[in-house]
Amino acid sequence: METQCNFIGGEWVGASTAQPNINPSDTSDIVGHYAQGGTEDVNRAISAAREALPTWSRATPQERCDILDRAGALILERKNELGRLLSREEGKTLAEGIGEAARAGQIFKYYAGEALRLSGELLRSTRPAIDVEIRREPVGVVALITPWNFPLAIPAWKAAPALAFGNTVVLKPAELVPASAHALTSILAEAGMPRGVFNLLMGPGHTLGDALVKSAEVDAVSFTGSVSTGRAIAATRAASGRRVQCEMGGKNPMVVLDDADIDVAVNSCLNGAFFSTGQRCTASSRLIVTAGIYDRFVELLVERMLALRVGHALDVATEIGPVVDERQLKQDLSYIDLARKEGARIVGGDRPKLATDGYYLTPTLFLETDPEMRINQEEIFGPIASVIRADDDDQALMFANAVPFGLSAGVCTTSLGRARRFRDELQAGMVMINLPTAGVDYHVPFGGTKESSFGPREQGSHAREFYTVTKTSYVA
Ligand code: NAP
Repeated sequence: METQCNFIGGEWVGASTAQPNINPSDTSDIVGHYAQGGTEDVNRAISAAREALPTWSRATPQERCDILDRAGALILERKNELGRLLSREEGKTLAEGIGEAARAGQIFKYYAGEALRLSGELLRSTRPAIDVEIRREPVGVVALITPWNFPLAIPAWKAAPALAFGNTVVLKPAELVPASAHALTSILAEAGMPRGVFNLLMGPGHTLGDALVKSAEVDAVSFTGSVSTGRAIAATRAASGRRVQCEMGGKNPMVVLDDADIDVAVNSCLNGAFFSTGQRCTASSRLIVTAGIYDRFVELLVERMLALRVGHALDVATEIGPVVDERQLKQDLSYIDLARKEGARIVGGDRPKLATDGYYLTPTLFLETDPEMRINQEEIFGPIASVIRADDDDQALMFANAVPFGLSAGVCTTSLGRARRFRDELQAGMVMINLPTAGVDYHVPFGGTKESSFGPREQGSHAREFYTVTKTSYVA
């Protein structure tokens, strides 16, 4: 099987080592072999991006718009093929894979428009006969370090604004998902991205990612991943006074109040907790349910959860695919053990025997849990959610906020007044009323509070804050 190369300065470049990429639904299926770059590749990629910067940053908005628009169109045209690749590489269901590919295409099209809309401000000075112009310029060379759980959408929502606003890019995707990043890179090249404007580096985060973060030639780093990696990156960049943005983990509460529509609540919790195999930073991992609806809600949720079909990601009947790899599976199983030790009652959490050998785990609920248990404080990142009983709205709100994270939070209620109160008092960057905590639009700000995020918001018009710097000029 041919080794897929890195993309540096407009050329596909091999590396001395390669790594196989394994299908989590069927460990006998090798998706491909991918180059493992070294630090010399990091330096070459940064130099290529630096060299391409003057021309790309001065390209007309129309030139940048046209290339991004073409890339978006190509992704949308190939969304079924890309969706299959995502399912095969990461284990999300076919519907989720195709949905993610379509979203990546829409993101490029959205930022094609934003490239045309980039504008500044003209003010009158406090002094006579002077105009003050505030314009936005690109930051420079931007490194994008991305996780494995949205292998196309996350690179797209970082790369598209970075490119639209005139920056050049080095993408370092997670080691588990090189195929999706490779496919995206091929499409950007096909769409006409000039040499060096977009570079792909595949290989380990602790060497390649670290070298990008520490480089004085990288003007900004946008990272999405775990809290531990994100914190270390933020500290390194802050120590050298360089721009950084980190999107990290969550332990997102979904509050179900006594007056909730029970079907809306159960559907929101099932989707938020278990779809994408629970491997979403915005997953509803703590279901906080008030006493008046608790028994009815838990009974229905358990019944619906046990009916979810776990299977091979490429089987159209599958609702829950495998977890991404053996390490993640071991982590999920260790939290199931911990839940047992902490005194929770466990429903699900089995390793089903299926036709192919994959990293399968049935959806799991931890019942009769307390908010301060470790299973309710730490991000697990699998098809697992806890249920916490609350006496009333006040206690539910207190439990919801009693974690170090603040990414997304939800409430199910039929009362406008209660919905408003929770919207105002939930400590989270995103609040969902009668909707799963996961599932966000691409044209609005995305990000959290507390330990979940560091730096400006991603997505939508807010991405401009991170990917541009302002220049103020005075004209007499
Ligand atoms: P991770 O282990 O932190 O890795 C994220 C990226 O950082 C990968 O590309 C990784 O490369 C790289 N990396 C690892 N060590 C590094 C280092 N020392 N310096 C620079 N880069 C380094 O996270 P993950 O397991 O891929 O993703 C799961 C996490 O992402 C979860 O915590 C989830 O909540 C979070 N997430 C957050 C959001 C959000 O927007 N808030 C969205 C999605 C996921 P390797 O793969 O080669 O190690």
